[in-house]
Amino acid sequence: MTKKKHLSKQQHHRIAQNEQKRLRGRDKPASAQLADDVLEPAEPGLVLSRFGQHADVEDAQGQVVRCNMRRTISSVVTGDSVIWRRAKQSTGSIDGVIEAVEDRRTVLLRPDFYDGLKPVAANIDLMIIVSAILPALSLNIIDRYLVAAEKTGIKPLLVINKADLLSGDELTQLTEQLHLYQQIGYDYLLLSAKTGQGMQELLQQVHSGTSIFVGQSGVGKSSLMNQLMPGLAAATREVSENSGLGQHTTTVSRLYHLPEGGDLIDSPGIREFALWHLSAEEVTSGFIEFAPWLGQCKFRDCKHISDPGCAIQHGVQQGEISRERYDSYLKILASMAQDKPHYF
Ligand code: GDP
Ligand code: ZN
Repeated sequence: MTKKKHLSKQQHHRIAQNEQKRLRGRDKPASAQLADDVLEPAEPGLVLSRFGQHADVEDAQGQVVRCNMRRTISSVVTGDSVIWRRAKQSTGSIDGVIEAVEDRRTVLLRPDFYDGLKPVAANIDLMIIVSAILPALSLNIIDRYLVAAEKTGIKPLLVINKADLLSGDELTQLTEQLHLYQQIGYDYLLLSAKTGQGMQELLQQVHSGTSIFVGQSGVGKSSLMNQLMPGLAAATREVSENSGLGQHTTTVSRLYHLPEGGDLIDSPGIREFALWHLSAEEVTSGFIEFAPWLGQCKFRDCKHISDPGCAIQHGVQQGEISRERYDSYLKILASMAQDKPHYF
């Protein structure tokens, strides 16, 4: 939550810039009731959710105000820090206007058919990548999310849920596989939303900063989120009913404050996201253990697939890079070539 009360020079500058654009006639006040003279001075806020032309902004005291936004602002998403002005007199519907958006620490982008890449959530610190043996454990999907985490600069945390379903043998095998990830530098937690196993460790991970749960449908993301924040399922329903957006609400992302500290962004639309807006080079750099080998291939435009003198392949042969991860890398490249839509 934003605690700052006073605006910085930079913030004032940004507002002034937007104001100028507006005066030049590129923007009209969002509505008659929000003309300058009916607005309080600018203050900082946090965007809890954004839907259509509106956003719910939380002020420094935790009060939530539904706002319009100046048309000069290109995008406002859940998790954004904004500068906004509240209406002097509340009408009970749209009671403020967003003037400017602060620079984002991180941003999650989603491919959109009409707009190309669209931001859907901002300032996320931790990407909790959830997997489970039921429906099926896929290391390749984990690797896809890890690439996405590396690309966005959001710290990943691997979570294997449904630990209660693991047999002794499965647990041994899984621990071996996860050890590989640990060696690369990725932490993991073995959890059960059902029995509560490992939940304390999860709490420690999320108790500061902003986290998001991602992973395939059915792995237990909602169950885990409900464990962290009892009543979340009910809150989600309430948002859907109030916003009057019907079915579209399933893709609205929303920020929640966890009772024990830390924030959670729930974004059904990006719980599962593909990688096809990444280039092959970005996928390569998303496999962070390849880094020491990059630049050492015989050919500068080496694709690291079957090229002669490839340092990555050499690393695999030497046992320095795990074969599983390398195979996974090839699989991602192959699937990207297939998935890439024609409009990109
Ligand atoms: P989501 O699609 O990722 O949000 O998954 P849900 O939270 O809806 O869970 C999918 C199914 O898995 C539900 O039937 C849950 O009851 C079940 N489930 C979730 N967590 C666990 C767990 O830790 N153990 C077991 N056995 N089942 C779980
Ligand atoms: Zn190579």
